[in-house]
Parts: sequence; structure tokens; C-alpha cells
Amino acid sequence: MKKDSFLKYCLYILLSLFAVACSTGERKPKIVTVTIQPQKYFAEKIAGDRFEINCIVPPGSNPEAYDPSPSHLVHLGKSIAYFKIGHIGFELAWMDKLAQNNPDMKIFDNSEGIDILSGTHEHNEEGNHHHHFDADPHSWSSPKNARIIAQNMYKAFVSIDPNGEKEFRKNYENLLLEINRVDSIMTQRLAPVSETMFAIYHPSLSYLAKDYNLHQLSLEYNGKEPSAFYLKKAVDIAKKNNVKVIFIQQEFDAKQAESFAAEIGAKVVPINPLSYNWSEELLHITDAIAGQ
Ligand SMILES: [Zn+2]
Repeated sequence: MKKDSFLKYCLYILLSLFAVACSTGERKPKIVTVTIQPQKYFAEKIAGDRFEINCIVPPGSNPEAYDPSPSHLVHLGKSIAYFKIGHIGFELAWMDKLAQNNPDMKIFDNSEGIDILSGTHEHNEEGNHHHHFDADPHSWSSPKNARIIAQNMYKAFVSIDPNGEKEFRKNYENLLLEINRVDSIMTQRLAPVSETMFAIYHPSLSYLAKDYNLHQLSLEYNGKEPSAFYLKKAVDIAKKNNVKVIFIQQEFDAKQAESFAAEIGAKVVPINPLSYNWSEELLHITDAIAGQ
């Protein structure tokens, strides 16, 4: 056993004991687990005090390639339900195992009913493809999809806790008002820059681009670092389309984006589509696109 995994193992034992010790105390709200922070934001708004929302992928980690920590596995074991965001690497790699380990945990797919886009992935010469990139998982970066996610969550909460229906309904309607407000600000600010192209390292804004008539130029190619050949092609496209901004995300290396920006004379803007503060973050992204 490597030192690192031995430490993880010890932590796991410790947390298990801690969990047992805690469970003998006062009654706590039941736990629902979600994959990403924006889901936690929506779920907490709808659940009110009736559930504790556990988010499995911590801030700053990439949910497309994340392995759960021991503490999250302990928490998950006590969850009565799991809300998937759908089509994302972490869930594709782990969901079957998590479900097997927790047979009583109900699993809901928050992306049900969303028109899922295919990823920027293209098949390689051998015709193989990496299924992780076939469906674009970043559904939450569009208010239109957020309304569907919120509705799916509302229905899921009612089905696991029918007594809370009235409260969930009120909270859900308030959340819809917030999402609609964000949508109308975005519509207003993005209409004048319709058909604009922006660049981004990791293509997490496909749904936003589609819903507001914008074009997303991704530097990442097939979910991998771009080759020199592909980068040169991207520089040409960016120059031709007058790209003025390139978005970078904390989960990915910024060096290539920075040299790309220098070459085309664009501004580098850090964004965090995985932020807990969903409304705030979308408006920040909107301003960066509209202000170009
Ligand atoms: Zn992503």
C-alpha cells in the first residue's frame, strides 16, 4: 500500500467512526448528493431546510476526471438520493459503482428532457472514439436548461419527501423567477453582440452560445491539449472572426490560452462555470462577452 493510499484509508476509518458517533445525536436533515456546485445551488434553494445537500466534486476539481475522496464516499453512504447532472466523466466512470454500494439510494437524472448537444469531439483516424466527449455535459450554462434542471429537482424532492411538496413548490417558483431574471438580462445584453465569436480553453459554454446566437471557439481539441497544428488553425479562425476575448478556467492550464490571446490581441478572462453562485457567474460571463 502506498503512503498516500494508506493515509486515505486511515482517514476513511476515522470518518466512518465519526459518522457513527454523530448519528446517535439529534436528528439531522436527510442528505441528497449532487455532482457539481451549480446543482448544489439549485438544490439548496428548492430543498430549504428539509435536506442537506452534499456536493461530491469539490470546488476547483474537474468533474470530467474526478475520483471521489473517502469523506465524500462516507457522506454518499448516508444519502437517500443522488441527483446526476448527466453525461459527465465522473458519473460515467463512477455511477454504477456508487449505485451498487448504496442500493437504497434513489438516482435521478437532472438533465432528463434537455436537448443534449454532441461534444466538440471528433473521431480519430482509427475510427475510435472516447465516449466521454460524445455528449456535451455542460447543460447548466444556459438558463433555458437550468429551468429544466430545476423542474427535475423539484419533482425528485417531491417524490422522496411528499410532505414537503408545498414548501418545495414555493421555493421552486422563487428559483424560476431568479433564473428568468438572469435569462432576460442575458437576452438584453447579448442581443447587440449576436453572432459574435468568443474563444475558450475548455468548451463549457456550448449551450449558452447556442441559446444566445453566439459562436464558441474551443482551444481544447477532443478533450485534449491542442496540437501546434490545431492551434495555428484556431488563430486563423479567431483573427478572421475578430475574437476579442478568451475564457480560461481554473481546472485547466492557462499557458496556451495566454499565448493564443497575445497572438490575436484578445483579452484573457478567467471564468468559473462550476461556481456555486450560478446567477452571478453567468452574468459575469455575459458582461465579458457583451463588453468586447
Ligand atoms: Zn467541462
